[in-house]
Amino acid sequence: MSRIIYLNGKYVPEQEAKVSVFDHGFLYGDGVFEGIRAYKGKVFKLEEHMARLYESAKSIMLDIPESYEEMTEATLETIRQNNLEDAYIRIVVSRGTGDLGLDPRKCPKATTVIIASSITLFPEELYEQGLEVITVATRRNVPDALDPQIKSLNYLNNILVKIEANRAGVMEAIMLNGQGYVAEGTGDNVFIVKRGKILTPPSYVGALCGITRQVIIDLAAEAGYLLEERPFTRHELYVADECFLTGTAAEVIPVIGVDGRQIGSGTPGPVTRDLVARFRELAGTTGTDIHP
Ligand code: PMP
Repeated sequence: MSRIIYLNGKYVPEQEAKVSVFDHGFLYGDGVFEGIRAYKGKVFKLEEHMARLYESAKSIMLDIPESYEEMTEATLETIRQNNLEDAYIRIVVSRGTGDLGLDPRKCPKATTVIIASSITLFPEELYEQGLEVITVATRRNVPDALDPQIKSLNYLNNILVKIEANRAGVMEAIMLNGQGYVAEGTGDNVFIVKRGKILTPPSYVGALCGITRQVIIDLAAEAGYLLEERPFTRHELYVADECFLTGTAAEVIPVIGVDGRQIGSGTPGPVTRDLVARFRELAGTTGTDIHP
C-alpha cells in the first residue's frame, strides 16, 4: 500500500513525493529532523518533539516555512491520512533547493517532509532478552564542532558507529566522547544501574537530550529511584549491575553485555524491567489525540 506523504504543504502518494537533487539536505546533509511515535491513537510527547525541531532549526538558522501550529496539525493529519493508530513519524526539514556550493543563502525555501510509517530497530525478543553492544573507536562529535543537541540530517558520526557495530556482529554500539566518557548510542541514550542507583551521562558529554531519556528520568523519580546525571567511564559501564538504552525508535531496551563483559546476571535486571513496564504504561495512555 502506498503511503501518503506530507510534502511542502500537500499530501501526496509516496511515488510522487520527490525532492530535487539540488536540495541541500541531499547535497550536504543541511537540515534537521525529528522521530516521533504514536501509540494507540495518541502521539507521545508531541510538544517536546516539536520544540526540539524548532530549536534545532533555530540553531542552524533554518527558517521552517510551517508555523509550529501548522507543523503540529500536518503531523497529525499525515498520521490520519495513513489510517495509523500506532506509528513512527519522521519530520524532515532540509535547507531546500539551491545549486552546487554549500552557501545556505542559495536556498530560498526549506523543504518539509512528514512520513508516517513504522520502524523496527531491534527484533522483538531482544526487548525481553536484552542486547549485546560494543563500544567503538569512533568518538562522539565534539559539541564545539557540531553540537549533538542539533538533530541534524548529517548522521555520519552515528552511521560510522553503526558500521563498526555491523562489522563486529552486534546490533548497537556506544560512543565515548573525546575524554573517554560514555556519551550515547547511535540513536539512543545510555543508562546504567549500580547498587540501586541509576546513572545517565549529562548532555554536555555529547549526548542528545533525548525525550525518552527525560521520560525515564521522570519515571525514575516518580518510582523513588535515586538517579544522577554524571559522566561515567567505560569501566563503570562494564561493572554496572544493569544497563539499558532509550530512544523514540529504540524505546527502552535492556543491555546484557558490553564488549564481551556480561552486565549483571546477563539478563535484564529488576530496575530496567520496572522502568520498561512504567514506560509502556505511560506511552500507551498519554499523548496528543490523533482524532481529537
Ligand atoms: N541520541 C541520538 C543520537 C538520537 O538520534 C536519538 C533519537 N532521536 C536519541 C539519542 C534518543 O532521543 P529521543 O528519546 O528523543 O528519541
